Amino acid sequence: MRAGWPGGADVAVSLTFDVDAESGWLPEGARQLSTLSEGRYGVVRGLPRILAILERADVKGTFYVPGDTAERHRDALRAVADAGHEIGHHGHLHLQSDQIDAAAQREEIERGLEALDANLGVTPAGYRSPSWELTPETFALLVEHGFAYDSSCMGDDRPYVEAYEDLRILELPVHWSLDDWPHLHWRPGRGDAFTAPEDFLATWLAEFESALEERRHITFTMHPEVIGRGHRAALLDRLIAEMRERGVVWFAPHADVQRWVTG
Ligand SMILES: [Zn+2]
Repeated sequence: MRAGWPGGADVAVSLTFDVDAESGWLPEGARQLSTLSEGRYGVVRGLPRILAILERADVKGTFYVPGDTAERHRDALRAVADAGHEIGHHGHLHLQSDQIDAAAQREEIERGLEALDANLGVTPAGYRSPSWELTPETFALLVEHGFAYDSSCMGDDRPYVEAYEDLRILELPVHWSLDDWPHLHWRPGRGDAFTAPEDFLATWLAEFESALEERRHITFTMHPEVIGRGHRAALLDRLIAEMRERGVVWFAPHADVQRWVTG
């Protein structure tokens, strides 16, 4: 894999956003209107805040979009694509791969592809599995459909080749500690907890400093309904500014990182 970053940057950073909206809650959500409404908030309020911050900072991100979100919120997601951000595949109904059979996994991939094409005119280069669980069946579907990379696994903290038997795909790895969900999301009865936003920013920056030291790539994961609340959106703004103070950062959508490291 190619070493170094474009323009002699010290470090490469991908800001990624999983636009789950209502899709993650549909199986249980038919009667949970409050829960669905929080998902919708991510599109109504979170997404415009995030887009404004990225535009001010002149940074492009990657937005992983379930097919259902593209259908339900077509105009909002078109605004994301029109602003030059990357759109990635994130299932169709956000069903967790290891909890559904092989036929349903195929449906998740293929209906998701159809919805992104029909509503946004996008053929995604990359895939991120809902809840980050990849199965052998879904892995095979990614290879069959020619995805250039996956972003669901954690076998390294640098871009690497993920393998299962004879299957191979470029992996742009993630980690729970860098995901806003376990730190900042809460639902009744699930045991989630709120971390103070300042503490979460400190975690992000500590990992960034490690990446800077090792001159590697780092992926941050956010959800519009989580990071997009008023007091937390400020964290994203500060994260970008603080990283720029510490080094020369190549901010790149995942597809650009994939092309660079394999180019
Ligand atoms: Zn998701």
